[in-house]
Amino acid sequence: MRIAFFSTKPYDRIWFEPMAKDYGYEIYFIELPFSEETMFLAKGYDAACIFVNDHVNGKMIDYLYENKVKALLLRSAGYNHVDVKAAKGKIEVLRVPSYSPEAVAEFAMAMLLTVNRFTHKAYGRTREFNMNINGLMGTDLFHKVAGVIGTGKIGQAMIRIFQGFRMNILAYDPYPNKSLDVQYVGLEELLSKSDFISLHCPLTPETNHIINEDTIAKMKDGVYLVNTSRGGLIDTQALIDGLLAKKFGGVGLDVYEEEEGLFYEDCSDEIIQDDNLARLTTFPNVLITSHMGFFTVEAMQAIAHETLENAYALENGLPLKNKAE
Ligand code: NAD
Repeated sequence: MRIAFFSTKPYDRIWFEPMAKDYGYEIYFIELPFSEETMFLAKGYDAACIFVNDHVNGKMIDYLYENKVKALLLRSAGYNHVDVKAAKGKIEVLRVPSYSPEAVAEFAMAMLLTVNRFTHKAYGRTREFNMNINGLMGTDLFHKVAGVIGTGKIGQAMIRIFQGFRMNILAYDPYPNKSLDVQYVGLEELLSKSDFISLHCPLTPETNHIINEDTIAKMKDGVYLVNTSRGGLIDTQALIDGLLAKKFGGVGLDVYEEEEGLFYEDCSDEIIQDDNLARLTTFPNVLITSHMGFFTVEAMQAIAHETLENAYALENGLPLKNKAE
């Protein structure tokens, strides 16, 4: 098996290199993202391995198909960046549906605790020997209402964490999981009753901008919102308007709807052209991170292992349990 590996970062090689040797696979590591300009690099390979901001449209699928590339191996759970309908019957799209739900949920909680207790600001102050704590007051989580939107693998890990903090939990999911010890409510009720809201649903046409002007208006004043799922869940302009109107106690964003081309790159010497992102960075109660909820040793190891298992199943005609469809 020969794999063209796009959007390579140094940390990808740590596990993929030795594991690929064990499988007897050849990996061609390419730093460039997968795009219409770079897709020709996959020619002659059995599979193209891509990451979350490598968007794949029908034209690119056709190119891969015509050049006998058999699969797109996604190093991610989400697959909203690939036109899976266009791929049907042409090439397999295999993802990593579960690598470490805890990694993402723990990060979501870290974001929530940070924006609530201002540890990001306190860190800066004490380093400059400004020991003043004015403006750094947070609120207890104990006995507050946590709203979880999407109760799949990561949502469930989040619920377990919220339970540890002894919070009262409300959940919304069009496909409720009856085995969970949690109270399901409609979206409106969750929005109007929650003190802290965490998003864990996938990005689909139905969930695109699920957080918008109307849904923000339904939230409590002073609400905390964390998004570790996909940027497109939030209408950024509506979020900025809400922040300006002091609707939010705090907001944590690990994902952003226009993150492609920015996140994962060092743009510190560039003039940022994205006014919304620039505006968001100015709010003292907003924490933005670069889509790194997954980034733990355990998750990275599991992603490498499961991606290569997907390749192995494809190569050996085994059932493809991780098809994105
Ligand atoms: P999952 O498939 O296990 O769970 C998703 C849940 O969302 C399901 O229970 C589904 O019924 C529910 N859902 C579907 N439509 C919904 C809607 N309209 N409203 C509310 N809920 C809805 O997925 P998961 O493993 O828990 O991952 C969730 C998302 O997290 C992924 O789709 C991905 O976008 C994101 N993610 C982010 C990172 C990161 O590094 N920040 C890492 C992994 C995954």
